[in-house]
Amino acid sequence: MTGLVDGFGRHFRYLRLSVTEVCNFSCAYCLPDGYRKTRPHDFLSVDEIGRLAETFQALGVGKVRLTGGEPSARRDLGEIIARIRRAGVAKIAMTTNGWNLSEKIEGWRDAGLTHLNVSIDALDPAAFRAITGHDRLGAVIDGVDRALALGLPTVKVNAVLLKSGLSGGFETFADFVRDRPVAVRFIELMRTGDNADYFAAEHVSGAVLRDWFAARGWTPRPRGPDDGPAVEYVHPDHAGRLGLIAPYAPGFCDGCNRLRVTARGQLRLCLFGEGGVDLRDLLQAGPSEALAARIRRALGEKPAGHRLAEGRSGDMRHLAQVGG
Ligand code: SAM
Ligand code: SF4
Repeated sequence: MTGLVDGFGRHFRYLRLSVTEVCNFSCAYCLPDGYRKTRPHDFLSVDEIGRLAETFQALGVGKVRLTGGEPSARRDLGEIIARIRRAGVAKIAMTTNGWNLSEKIEGWRDAGLTHLNVSIDALDPAAFRAITGHDRLGAVIDGVDRALALGLPTVKVNAVLLKSGLSGGFETFADFVRDRPVAVRFIELMRTGDNADYFAAEHVSGAVLRDWFAARGWTPRPRGPDDGPAVEYVHPDHAGRLGLIAPYAPGFCDGCNRLRVTARGQLRLCLFGEGGVDLRDLLQAGPSEALAARIRRALGEKPAGHRLAEGRSGDMRHLAQVGG
């Protein structure tokens, strides 16, 4: 099968797969009141995920990222990872809030996890608690260190750029990567249907970080062809890197290389689009040409970019809905 290319010539070798809408944290910009069950939890089963992964793999997708909600809320997460591995996907990544990372990471690594992103929006315990609703900063950092000690090929940290998360300044994060070989990537807070007031109070422009890099001798690292939207910066005194993902920057969508599937099996063409293409009826029996054809057809409809700059977030109420 030939690979996935959209009407704008963009190639898609990366799938972000949500495995649950459930989350145990209540991040102020995402689920400030915590997760509330509104529908039955009929999320994709391990077998459905396996068939989906086989088809995407045959279509040239070499990396699958598990996300959610909180992916580790699924008890069968290890089986999910192992099943995607059996489908022949080379890179299996996960984005997690890290609440149980130190106990679980070895099992996930043994099942086939290769890339780990841990979300840490503040390095001050009180600020972390205020943002996430949980006093677990120390445990999350222990999890990052455990993953590094196990030698996972890639360990990164995601930090949403928030006024309250930066109470100690960017220096706190620079200290964090002084001896740790991890990349901390700051992502500009995105406005969703639910978080308009929080966005107005907490949004920090990526330009502030770029100025900080320039003033402190951090220099941008050359980008590889399959690099995502982050621009990473290095400094001779630091083992790790700092980076910026700026979804509001002009041209952000030009290099889009990712597709998303929700925990209920809908293909989502743009994070901030409307609706999705249901794949679930075709996930019941073996990898199929029909499934591949539906994915290709849908891709023909992929828009050039999101319209966040016009204040339009599509039907995205919060990112736990689709997986970020
Ligand atoms: N629960 C997991 C976690 O937090 O890592 C995975 C799902 S979460 C939706 C994925 C990523 O999206 C996290 O790094 C989170 O901080 C980020 N995120 C959620 N809402 C966001 C928003 N409105 N703007 C920017 N990033 C957001
Ligand atoms: Fe949960 Fe992740 Fe959303 Fe925080 S960002 S509430 S951890 S899904």
